[in-house]
Amino acid sequence: LELSKEKVPLFKFILIGDQSVGKSSIVKRYKNEEFNYNIKATIGVEFIKKFVQVDKGLIEIQLWDTAGQEQFRSVIRSFYRGAAAVFIVYSVNLKESFDQLSIWLNEIEYHAHSEIIKVLVGNKCDLQREVQKEEAESLMNNNNFSLFFETSAKTGENIDEAFIQTAKLVLLKY
Ligand code: GDP
Repeated sequence: LELSKEKVPLFKFILIGDQSVGKSSIVKRYKNEEFNYNIKATIGVEFIKKFVQVDKGLIEIQLWDTAGQEQFRSVIRSFYRGAAAVFIVYSVNLKESFDQLSIWLNEIEYHAHSEIIKVLVGNKCDLQREVQKEEAESLMNNNNFSLFFETSAKTGENIDEAFIQTAKLVLLKY
């Protein structure tokens, strides 16, 4: 069976959150099933794409990572444009990254369209936790997040699930 990769629906997903919470590692893990302790700092906005099969057929998921370039206005505009979902990432082993989430929520409020699906991601769940699940769930409920996952880019836990489930949610909306 030959599947055309030209007409499949495209889902643009963006990742935001403090530096070092594991955004690039999540993207790399999703793309290659690989984990690297020494990912070099990436420059500018980058994205990867991957075709995945869901119930309704083949879709293309694009993952966009800011790579620490949030300060450039022009980058911000192209980054947020057309995004179906935003993944706000913190590290479960770093309370500080969780406390910063209100700043990221303000960023979304300011830059993203109001219909964007918000997904909360507590990464590095393979490490000793500083942030309890209950804290994250209450933040989730108070800020209109649609989904919440604890992930590990290291072990791969919940990485595929996070993107597939979000894609399914987006499909339900259209
Ligand atoms: P970014 O700045 O948010 O893109 O973060 P990086 O992907 O560069 O990751 C920062 C550091 O955390 C790197 O040393 C990664 O190897 C490490 N890291 C990322 N995800 C995980 C994870 O799930 N578990 C563990 N133990 N380390 C991780």
